[in-house]
Amino acid sequence: MGVISKLPVVLERMPMGTVVATSLEKVLNEGRASSLWYLLFGTACCAIEMMCTGASRYDFDRFGMFFRASPRQADLMFVAGTITHKMAPRVKLLYEQMAEPRYVIAMGGCACNGGPFHYDTYAVLKGVDKVIPVDVYLPGCPPRPESLLEACLKLQQKIKKQKLGEWSSDIRG
Ligand code: SF4
Repeated sequence: MGVISKLPVVLERMPMGTVVATSLEKVLNEGRASSLWYLLFGTACCAIEMMCTGASRYDFDRFGMFFRASPRQADLMFVAGTITHKMAPRVKLLYEQMAEPRYVIAMGGCACNGGPFHYDTYAVLKGVDKVIPVDVYLPGCPPRPESLLEACLKLQQKIKKQKLGEWSSDIRG
């Protein structure tokens, strides 16, 4: 019962033993939440904290998270850093090349709303959600690795509640 008791399933006791009854949706969501492959992509100082989180001290790997160098093999994008208007179309293109269903964590003030550049520059996008949908917003300048891990756990919770019909990024908006 050790492993089975942790699964988000309905257990039914039958005369000859235990039967696990679940839905395809729950199995797929559990698998997807536990194997997020993220695009290694950073545009400014927040990326240093993201790289730190992937290294051995904080260790993304224990959540089943691995970085991919190609967007076609990734389903999670950390937008870690300042996004300029010049960079924004490239961010959108990379997002569109990712495998669906795909997710975005806006890491740091710059990605959330322009951060320290919100008022004083015309060159910075006031939040990456102006060009791509964001699933989790993580404020901070920069957020520490512990906060990024917390954001990933929040995303996992969100994925586990997803319905099959919501898998398309277009539907999630
Ligand atoms: S939020 Fe702060 S640390 Fe992160 S990219 Fe912007 S200026 Fe750099």
